[in-house]
Amino acid sequence: MLQYLVIILDDTSVAYCHADNPLKERHLMPIEILKKGILFGMKQNLMIQYVFPNYELPKEYSEVIESIDNVKIYPMGCKPITGISDDGETDVEVTNVVPEKVGAKNLVLRLTFGKMLKQRETIAKLFASGARINLCITDVEQFTDEQIEAYQKVLNEWNTTRLELYKHGQSPQFNLLTDRMQLEKMHNCEAGVSNITLAPNGKFYLCPAFYYDEQMKVFNQLNHHNPSSDNSVGDLERGLDIPNPQLLQLDHAPLCRNCDAYQCRRCIWLNRKLTWDNNTPSHQQCVMAHLERNASRDLLNDIRKVGEFMPQIDIKEINYLDPFEVRKEF
Ligand code: SF4
Repeated sequence: MLQYLVIILDDTSVAYCHADNPLKERHLMPIEILKKGILFGMKQNLMIQYVFPNYELPKEYSEVIESIDNVKIYPMGCKPITGISDDGETDVEVTNVVPEKVGAKNLVLRLTFGKMLKQRETIAKLFASGARINLCITDVEQFTDEQIEAYQKVLNEWNTTRLELYKHGQSPQFNLLTDRMQLEKMHNCEAGVSNITLAPNGKFYLCPAFYYDEQMKVFNQLNHHNPSSDNSVGDLERGLDIPNPQLLQLDHAPLCRNCDAYQCRRCIWLNRKLTWDNNTPSHQQCVMAHLERNASRDLLNDIRKVGEFMPQIDIKEINYLDPFEVRKEF
């Protein structure tokens, strides 16, 4: 069931997940489209999530934006409209640079795998900030099995830091290590299932990445005569039109529905990019998610040596990193 409407306010709105936003030219969503988008969200009883660019929007947008409850996703250090409070519980700051300190309650840190390794110690210092840290690796497709050990090592190092915090009564959230410890079932991105994205052109997309891809294809077509394709799944006039929506669902994903890396994003954009199928995951995504799952298990076991913690959660020991390897056992 749809629960969230993501509204990309401008072509240059901040990227907050795996996909970079390659669009460089400002194209602000016309205010009439914004109003229609909000109305669509109201009628469907959806929580609106606005994605802001790195510039201040015209004043008339503030009133429209605040006409409904919302979550704001915005570039770190940018207050795109007046009224964004630093103590917003649900608002999300996004950065591609590891900051010295965190002001917001929720931070998305987008880094390549290599940068994450290099800056592991600075990242560890952020754990004590109390903010929820979401670390999003932006080059999952480049991950190789040769990097498994390095990822295990950094996750173990962070576990040590986190265990010390738990011992001192602090339990700040860090998606890669603490989400799985608290989940009893899948909790994935669910693009196209629980959330849908409205772009500045008034069309719907499964997520912002599908909009970026379409726009880049249009750009390439204009400049290099490459074929373009329409990634949209409806618009504000016709409504949502997702072809074969069941194919985005967990119960139609043979690997994922048998998997217990519950914290995995199950990114359908990465799936399509790497396996050409929305619901079939790549080896890279599965291996990384299982390394995180296993590190969460280790952390959970260590915490339980100190005190009781989420007794209902049981993360079993497993001997594979990619469910594809054991698919015959399902
Ligand atoms: S780890 Fe792989 S199989 Fe498991 S949920 Fe993630 S993408 Fe699906």
